[in-house]
Amino acid sequence: MDLRTYRQELDEWIVHHHEDLTPTPEAFTGLEGQFAHLSKVKRLAYEAGFGRWGWPERVGGLGGAPLLRALLGERLTAGGYVQPGGWSMTEVLAPTMIDFASPELAAEVVPLLLRGDEHWCQGFSEPGSGSNLAALSCRAVRADDGWVVTGQKVWTSFAHLSDRCVLLTRTGPKESLHRGITALFVDMDTPGITVRPLRTMHGVDEFCEVFFDDVHVPADRLLGVEDGGWSIAMDLLPYERSTALWHRGAYVRRRFEDLLHDAHPDHLDPHAVGEVALQLFALRSVSRRTQHRISDGERLGAETSVDKLLLSSTEQAVYDLASEALAEAVTTGSDPASERWRSEFLYSRAATIYGGTTEIQRNVLARRVLGLAEEH
Ligand SMILES: Cc1cc2nc3c(=O)[nH]c(=O)nc-3n(C[C@H](O)[C@H](O)[C@H](O)COP(=O)(O)OP(=O)(O)OC[C@H]3O[C@@H](n4cnc5c(N)ncnc54)[C@H](O)[C@@H]3O)c2cc1C
Repeated sequence: MDLRTYRQELDEWIVHHHEDLTPTPEAFTGLEGQFAHLSKVKRLAYEAGFGRWGWPERVGGLGGAPLLRALLGERLTAGGYVQPGGWSMTEVLAPTMIDFASPELAAEVVPLLLRGDEHWCQGFSEPGSGSNLAALSCRAVRADDGWVVTGQKVWTSFAHLSDRCVLLTRTGPKESLHRGITALFVDMDTPGITVRPLRTMHGVDEFCEVFFDDVHVPADRLLGVEDGGWSIAMDLLPYERSTALWHRGAYVRRRFEDLLHDAHPDHLDPHAVGEVALQLFALRSVSRRTQHRISDGERLGAETSVDKLLLSSTEQAVYDLASEALAEAVTTGSDPASERWRSEFLYSRAATIYGGTTEIQRNVLARRVLGLAEEH
């Protein structure tokens, strides 16, 4: 399927299914309703074929370039049919499963994620090891038929709504740092797992603390090789800054257009509007190049930190502009539109933290792309 035909057929399909794809008011407010709606949209897209193009046939896809997926997510997020956060988990986690799970496991579980039958989460960060991920300490000990996991994760987005988790565990001594990490694919209903949602300042229980107390994980849930989990993390993080980021960028651009529509022209500083428009354009240009690189089969690496830096600064710039132009709505408005602007303004503060902080992205670029010296 070529991009032009896909775009044309997709746009027609969206127009035709607009009503089915549009979230109900419940799906706008609560995360549970949002996820139920996400499942519905994914199922509709999968059954119509659009949700399968761009994914390999061995995991339920129809083949074709990943650019097709970039377009699907763009249309659905910018169209307001799905929230970019929930949608992005597929783009972040499915490629890793395709690359590192056994072919049998990938063939069994990836279609469940693509079709919206399941949601998955990413268990990397821990109290004390976020930026310093290689110091993680959630331990997995070899048992006869797999592993026994004990420890804690934190900031695990959507863990309370997830069926499975891509989990990083420590299997070597702590001093071995990134060389002693193993990635496992864990069912969230396994006995011994406790999930506690954390309330965020934007009013949504988006992420959780997850406790593992002697949790048994079967041997066939190993991703990659034992003690090789670091390469999985390094493979996954660029995905967090690629197609998922393209979708979030599309959503932010749409909200910028909404802002121009919602705000009184006298409250919009033309100079500030122009600056933000330029930032959005730069983000889209750089991210577009990344989408083409993925479709050309290139392996992504540290340079995707540029995309993440551009997204963080642009997202915050859009909502800073909103907080000035819609000051009353963002601070005290109680109608649904004002509450949405307020919630999104507050959430935009996290843009310089999730997926690796701005400081860490700059360090990555300095060391790994520009070849500058280590810190002392
Ligand atoms: C909305 C949101 C969703 C998230 N979802 C997930 C998820 O699903 N799964 C998951 O595993 N994690 C998730 N996270 C966690 C996220 O990856 C971490 O918050 C992030 O990596 C930072 O780690 P930390 O919070 O431990 O902060 P720290 O690492 O303690 O950093 C604190 C501050 O110190 C700075 N800093 C640290 N080290 C350096 C250094 N070497 N040089 C310069 N500055 C430094 C940081 O930039 C930051 O400003 C999420 C976070 C947010 C905000």
